Amino acid sequence: MKKNDFQKSAANLKKAVPLMVKHHVPATPANYALWYTYVDQTIPELNAEVDAILKDFDILPLVNTNLLYREHIAGKAEVNLQDLKHNMEALVTEVSSSMTDVIADTSQFSKVLEQSFDELSTQMESPRNPTLDEVMPLIQQLVDEANDIRHSTDFINDQLKNASDEIARLKSQLAKVQCNALFDSLTSLYNRGAFDADLNMFCEAKQPMSLIFLDIDHFKTFNDEFGHLFGDTILKGISQRLKQACRGGITAYRFGGEEFALIIPNKSLRVARQMADALRLAIEKMTIKDRKNGSKVGNITASFGVAEFTTGDTYSSLVERADKMLYDAKRAGRNRVMPF
Ligand code: GH3
Ligand code: MG
Ligand code: MG
Repeated sequence: MKKNDFQKSAANLKKAVPLMVKHHVPATPANYALWYTYVDQTIPELNAEVDAILKDFDILPLVNTNLLYREHIAGKAEVNLQDLKHNMEALVTEVSSSMTDVIADTSQFSKVLEQSFDELSTQMESPRNPTLDEVMPLIQQLVDEANDIRHSTDFINDQLKNASDEIARLKSQLAKVQCNALFDSLTSLYNRGAFDADLNMFCEAKQPMSLIFLDIDHFKTFNDEFGHLFGDTILKGISQRLKQACRGGITAYRFGGEEFALIIPNKSLRVARQMADALRLAIEKMTIKDRKNGSKVGNITASFGVAEFTTGDTYSSLVERADKMLYDAKRAGRNRVMPF
């Protein structure tokens, strides 16, 4: 990466972060990518859309963030990650080339030293003592060389300090991007981290929404009977079905294990329950093929808990309510949606 590119990335970072703070944007990778692109101004349509939304809301509602992210940036997230890696590499290259310069200066200096001492000793060994006039130029040369080297050492020290600060910053950013990676690798649904960030933001913004929790029934017996890998295939199949439900701002997440969540913006409990029941029926009808022996497995069912955001709700209170409903659905015999 060229030095200019690096400076530009660093400048963008410095601009994006305060904007994210100002608009209460959680520091998720998607948001980071979105705001980085916003200040980079490489996608004018994105900037126009963000500006329009910010005119109406003080925050960028999450549904919009998700849509904007998918529309303009998804797929480029990797590019940003690459950018960060490149920045670090560029810094290392920059520092090591400065190092090479200093080393070259230093070896030049030791050559001059050697030469000067040689000359000095030759003069000392000469039958007559050298005059001050004869020695002075040699000393002057040594002082000049020493000064040069001191300057390049100061320079490299400054550079090293700047570079190591910058590297530390980029490293922590990189770690964040990598460990919060937005997607679950098995199902490629959004992961738990994304869920937490999104639901928190919905609650803080008091955005009307409903939450659906879904847990596969007796999943352990599928694993026991057909093996863990086939269990994974079932999880992927169900995730595929959940993705189809993601229209109109709905987002599906793998909450963990065989549990999933859906955030349904702007929909009441009644509508969310209907959606959950449609999903329940679709899952009940699913058959999943075992590639190993070609046999088909059906009778997969799931239980659902639904909760609607109400004033005063927090992330925890909402999750607890949906969880409690899910638990009730299990207790009432599974393969059902609660509240009834
Ligand atoms: P219940 O109807 O009460 O939900 O029963 P259950 O068997 O589905 O629930 P339980 O919590 O007892 O078991 C969940 C199982 O899900 C256990 C665990 O091995 C399995 N599981 C979790 N994550 C994965 C995964 O990534 N792949 C596979 N194949 N299995 C998983
Ligand atoms: Mg479970
Ligand atoms: Mg289960």
